Amino acid sequence: MAQEIYEGEIYTGPINSAHSHFDREGLYGSLNRLTIENSIYTEDQLCKDLDKYRVEKAVIFPQPHPTTGEEDIARVFALLGLTGAITLPDIETKLAVMPVVMGAIFFKMSYESITGKLIHFPINYSKANDRIYELKDDRVEFVPFVGSNFKPADIERFEGIKGVKFYEPYGAIPENLLRYLDEHELNMIIHLSIDMRTKPIQNLRAAIQEAKKSPSKKKVLSVLKNTPSVIFSNPSYIDVRKPEEFLKKVARYDGINFQVAHWAYGNKEITDALDEHSYLFLDSSGSTWPFAWNFPYKEIARKYPEKIVFGPDEPWCKYEPELNVIKGLGLDKNDQRKILYENYSKLW
Ligand SMILES: [Zn+2]
Repeated sequence: MAQEIYEGEIYTGPINSAHSHFDREGLYGSLNRLTIENSIYTEDQLCKDLDKYRVEKAVIFPQPHPTTGEEDIARVFALLGLTGAITLPDIETKLAVMPVVMGAIFFKMSYESITGKLIHFPINYSKANDRIYELKDDRVEFVPFVGSNFKPADIERFEGIKGVKFYEPYGAIPENLLRYLDEHELNMIIHLSIDMRTKPIQNLRAAIQEAKKSPSKKKVLSVLKNTPSVIFSNPSYIDVRKPEEFLKKVARYDGINFQVAHWAYGNKEITDALDEHSYLFLDSSGSTWPFAWNFPYKEIARKYPEKIVFGPDEPWCKYEPELNVIKGLGLDKNDQRKILYENYSKLW
C-alpha cells in the first residue's frame, strides 16, 4: 500500500461512512474474494468501530453474497471435484494449492461466463436486509441490497430508506430497478464489474508451474500467502468492464444519485464524468485492497474532493488503514473533512 507521510494538518473530527457490509459472507463469496478470514462484521464490532472512530452516520448493507448454508456447501463440493483434477506432484501440494485454484475459478466464474456475458446469480437478500433493518443504533443508515431479479416488493417494506446497493458482478443492472430508483429519487451504491480478461488465470497458471518446480510445503504456502498479488500481479488490467455502458445509464437517469464503489477502480471515463454529472459520486472503499495500489486516487481526490465519500468497506477492509489512506493523500484539512465527513450529507 503506497502511503506517504503527510506533513500538513490532519483532519481529526467526526466521520461519516458510506460503505460497510454487515454479517457473514457465504463461503462461495468468500472464496471468490480469495479470503475467508475477513468475511464477517458483527453488531458488536460495528458498535465498537462507530464509537472508536467517532462515526456519526454509517451506511450499512448486507454482504454481496450473504451466507445461505446448504447452497454454499453444494457449490464448494462441486468445484472441489474440478480442482482435484489438477495435476500436481503430491497430495500436500495439491491440497495447499486447491484454495488458490478454487478462488480463481470462483472469481472468474463470478464475473463473466466464457462468452464474456455477465453471469446472473439470483441471490435472495431478504433475510440479510431484515437483519440490518432491525438494528437499533441511530447511527446506522440501512441500505438494502438488491439483485438483478429486483422487484419493488423487495424493498417496499423498508420505511425511510434513501437508496440501495447493487453488485453488478452477480448480474447486469435491470432497467426496472433504475426506473424505480429514478422515480423515487433514491441513491444507488454500485459495485461495477471488473474487466477480467484472462490475466488472473494466466498468473495462476504461472504460479502453479512455479510450485511444481519445487513442491516444498514452504514454497506452496508462500504462493498461498501471496494469493491476491499472485492472481492480480499485473495491476494494469484491473478496470471497469464496459464503463461507457454504465455512463449511458447515468446520463439517462438523472433522478438517481450514483455512488460508484471503490473509486470506480480509478477508471478514467467514469472519473472524467464526475464534472459532467452533479449526481455522480465515488466512494473510497477498498483503498487498501492488495490490487488497489495502482488506482490514481491521489489525482482523483485532489481534482474532485467534493465528489468522494469515505467508506471503510468493513469487514473486507478496516477503518484505520482506510482512514489513513485518505489522510495520507496530501489534501488540505478542509478537503479531508469533505471526504471523511461533509460530502456524505450530499447523498445520505
Ligand atoms: Zn464493499
